[in-house]
Amino acid sequence: MNHPDRRNLSLLTPSGHLTLGNLLGALRPMARGQHEADCFYGISDLHALTTPHEPTRLRDTVREMATLLLAAGLDESTLFLQSRVPAHAQLAYLLECTAYTGELNRMIQFKEKGRGVDSTRVSLYTYPALMAADILLYRPQQVPVGADQRQHVELTRDLAIRFNNAYGPVFTVPEVAVPAAGARVMRLDDATRKMGKSDASAAGVIALLDPPDVVRRKVARAVTDSDTGPDAVRSDPAKPGVTNLLEILTACGGSAEGITTYGALKRAVTDAVVAELEPLQKRYAELAADPAHVDGVFRAGAERCRAVTAPVLAAAEAAIGL
Ligand code: AMP
Repeated sequence: MNHPDRRNLSLLTPSGHLTLGNLLGALRPMARGQHEADCFYGISDLHALTTPHEPTRLRDTVREMATLLLAAGLDESTLFLQSRVPAHAQLAYLLECTAYTGELNRMIQFKEKGRGVDSTRVSLYTYPALMAADILLYRPQQVPVGADQRQHVELTRDLAIRFNNAYGPVFTVPEVAVPAAGARVMRLDDATRKMGKSDASAAGVIALLDPPDVVRRKVARAVTDSDTGPDAVRSDPAKPGVTNLLEILTACGGSAEGITTYGALKRAVTDAVVAELEPLQKRYAELAADPAHVDGVFRAGAERCRAVTAPVLAAAEAAIGL
């Protein structure tokens, strides 16, 4: 049973193929949370335009991601494309008229990825205002985000407070919540780096649609270490590669009991990951054969989002003097 007075909100940017990291760290917890709240899960296609992109590829990536969200069992949530809910871009503009350049200049992601480069898109600079709109439109009480997004949610709070003080109490000021410690999956070829979707073609990254033989090859090449002792297979900060494999194994329902060699560990990890992905890939194939169904789900989701966000946008417009 959903609890309509509690809202969960999460947006995924279609910047590449979803990975095992996204499944264990985001999609699975999102699917489990569906029964505890009224969940809005979006594909932030507008955010994908902040860096150089190719239109056909973006459309393909969005379609794959939409189908995967459904295949991952998120069908009890409101699923939508950000661009199909115009209030996101409309409120973003009002928040650009609330934010200061000094604040946006301090955003770490802009400083690292775009500042000082002539060809940086203006939207990469103003992206935090759009993200603030993404959040404030749905009035969630809490926003659970990882460390890399914390600064953006702090800015969202500052903008909401400033707007409310200047024009009237329109926005619910969300709290920054620390997400329940989920699996953090690292790359198989470099366990110091997160398994990310922007490099899903890399040897150390397992994409959710990788067939079993590709999974096997990638896991077989995973970096471990030269320890050959009887207790070599153990979680240990000094053994990041092995620790990562053990975490993947457990998160995918496997067990390391009785495993003493890296070869056996890799076989167990392969089996567990393949078993984890198999039902998802099967469901994906069914849904991919019926794109009209997927489109229908997202169309209905966007319609609901438009209804839910319209009063918030209208209140913001009225308060600011439009
Ligand atoms: P990103 O792919 O970085 O845009 O992140 C989308 C969602 O997936 C966020 O909720 C992340 O926390 C989660 N996520 C991404 N990569 C990983 C990973 N390697 N391990 C665990 N969670 C991840």
